[in-house]
Amino acid sequence: MPGVFIKTYGCQMNERDSEAVAAQLVAKGYTLAPSEAEADVILLNTCSVRDFAEQKAIGKMQNIAADVRKNRPDVVLGFLGCMAQSRGQELIDKLPDVDLVLGTQKFHHAADYLDAILAGRRKKIVDVALEQGSEATIREHLLNGNAQKSVTAFVSIMQGCNQYCTFCIVPYTRGEERSRTIPDIVAECRQLVAQGVKEITLLGQIVTSYGKRANFSRAGSPLPADGGASVPASRLVGSLAPPNDSGAHGVTRPTLQRSPFVQLLDAVHEIEGLERIRFTAPHPKGYGGDLIEAYARLPKLVESAHLPVQSGSDRVLKLMHRGYTRRRFLDLVEKLRQVRPDIGITTDIIVGFPGETEDDFEQTLSLAREVRFDNAYIFKYSPRRDTPAAAMPGQVPQKIREERNHRLLETVNEIGKRKYDAFVGRQTQILVEGPSRKNSTRLAGRTRCNKIVVFDGSDRHRGQLMDVKITRAGSFTLYGDPAILE
Ligand code: SF4
Repeated sequence: MPGVFIKTYGCQMNERDSEAVAAQLVAKGYTLAPSEAEADVILLNTCSVRDFAEQKAIGKMQNIAADVRKNRPDVVLGFLGCMAQSRGQELIDKLPDVDLVLGTQKFHHAADYLDAILAGRRKKIVDVALEQGSEATIREHLLNGNAQKSVTAFVSIMQGCNQYCTFCIVPYTRGEERSRTIPDIVAECRQLVAQGVKEITLLGQIVTSYGKRANFSRAGSPLPADGGASVPASRLVGSLAPPNDSGAHGVTRPTLQRSPFVQLLDAVHEIEGLERIRFTAPHPKGYGGDLIEAYARLPKLVESAHLPVQSGSDRVLKLMHRGYTRRRFLDLVEKLRQVRPDIGITTDIIVGFPGETEDDFEQTLSLAREVRFDNAYIFKYSPRRDTPAAAMPGQVPQKIREERNHRLLETVNEIGKRKYDAFVGRQTQILVEGPSRKNSTRLAGRTRCNKIVVFDGSDRHRGQLMDVKITRAGSFTLYGDPAILE
């Protein structure tokens, strides 16, 4: 059977999509090729968030095409994902060696399309149409294809985003928010846990908006104006156990109406054998009181929050259409630290957004100092076509973007180092995931607050929750010894 090689660019959602495509192809009899050189099908799953990511994928495909068309003309080449969605036919016009362009709502057709191309029934296929119900098609996992069992897994709970931040191309490449049902998600999680998974990360472009387009809170009300592409409220509510009034961590009787996302967390939390729950990516404005309360109530929900702040300046936040202010963001951090004092908080920040002045940037620096993020992913603003920010006045010169990036990075790294150093001498719980990426003779696990810990251990520790004593802190990595408890 043909061997397929998939190279993935971009975020965890793309990684998850690639895994689902690979699992789909394996189920159809394809094998996974260890490299491009040994593949009959080469697919690039692309990212559009920055121009650099697009150029990288195009450059890569040009190189692959030049090589395979000379030596192995029958190899099938394809683009998947965000850039495929936004550029469509244009990619084949530009790169005529490409055979397949598959958009973000079409991953589940990959095997059928490749079969048709390989059998010569179709020459080239471009499919970037919208497809109702496609949010529920990213469900297959590769766990069984792994010789070593996976301890962690990602589960896609929704697709798309309706926030329309002015810098972001995602609403155009991923479409409107569409959520899977709670029963469907829980069934997938249960299956993963039965296969040995201990930690699940719920994934989506804006998970805190999960289920909102389904008129969830008004059970029985008509479907939204999208004609029912999103999920009817009754189907979402169907599987939920009654709210637990006693609560963990001593919190009594919830008084808040729970959002669909928190109801999903409740339902996943019920799964026996599951040890930890994470989620990404949330939106700060989606952290209602019910979600903060969930951190206090649900022990499996780990002490970790990725809160993309993007800027510390209210003026810039407004231009970005983020929907919160600096004050509200700081209040959120404070509330989360009240319920979980050890919570690890990471963020995304854009520097050099159009119109960002030195004063705006100073406010971002001061916010970073005030919050003391455990880590921050800093991006130099990159104009994306068709987004409002690309046409805004006051585009910041590249040199200034680079200089601000450098200054912020220094601040963030310094704070991060102090935070990591503070772990030295402490005992902390990790979930052992497997061999360390950098040194396969050692094992790596993750703390509840999402820090990687490398230590000496044996394969029998994989999948175990264990306490380690932290002996040393490196650059965003901790080193530890298994702790002997009294
Ligand atoms: S919330 Fe996130 S995915 Fe949605 S538009 Fe804003 S940055 Fe993009």
